[in-house]
Amino acid sequence: MVNLVLLGAPGAGKGTQAKMLCEEYRIVHISTGDILRENVKKKTQLGYKAKEYMDRGELVPDGVLIGIIRDRLLKSDTGKGFLLDGYPRTVVQAEALQEILSEINKDLDVVIDIEVPDDELIERLAGRRMCRCGASYHMVFNPPKVNGICDICGDKLYHRDDDTQAAVKTRLAAYYKQTHPLIDYYSKKGLVRPVSGSGGIEDIFQQIKTVINMIME
Ligand code: ADP
Ligand code: ADP
Ligand code: ZN
Repeated sequence: MVNLVLLGAPGAGKGTQAKMLCEEYRIVHISTGDILRENVKKKTQLGYKAKEYMDRGELVPDGVLIGIIRDRLLKSDTGKGFLLDGYPRTVVQAEALQEILSEINKDLDVVIDIEVPDDELIERLAGRRMCRCGASYHMVFNPPKVNGICDICGDKLYHRDDDTQAAVKTRLAAYYKQTHPLIDYYSKKGLVRPVSGSGGIEDIFQQIKTVINMIME
């Protein structure tokens, strides 16, 4: 059993690796981006509130996210281990996470920092195609078997509203300003393991598994 956080800029490959890792270790995938998009799609009050921030490429306010993550972590399925993808994104969120985890007698085992140069991130986001099931494809680097259709569930793929040039620029700036400081925050706790996120998807997966297996020994 392992409790981990995947850190990395937008487009680093968190969602892609998260899917593979959660299957491998039979742990729960918690993606705050997926939860927010689901709420936008269902037109909930939360989705309505979050959408304007998301479309601009800005972070949704901490208070909203802390509520979401608390509700999700309190569900009993997290007892088998969990992977956080896209949370925390600010130091305030990281501190709230610490509090929630101590309330439920859990702790983080490792924070994996997936590192990818900016020019590569931009190329990845421009060609990304998503499925409602959370699967993520790339038109060139990771195409689905049938053009425009999800390999896993057969649904139609879509281009995310925030994978536009303007929103990507804002998201990268938000990452460096608000999220990147978490590397230092978690390094001080001795939890960070950096992994190069450039290269093949399968190679990166193997590297992350090596790190996790070492931690779990
Ligand atoms: P994140 O969740 O970190 O934003 P994704 O997993 O959605 O990132 O990946 C972003 C885009 O990059 C997607 O189009 C995905 O198919 C592609 N991608 C993921 N990993 C790699 C890789 N190692 N090499 C090339 N493209 C990748
Ligand atoms: P990516 O992996 O491409 O950066 P996500 O799917 O993780 O994108 O997130 C999409 C958007 O949802 C973010 O740009 C932000 O507006 C919002 N979001 C997701 N997670 C958080 C979070 N922990 N804090 C604030 N906003 C968030
Ligand atoms: Zn799908």
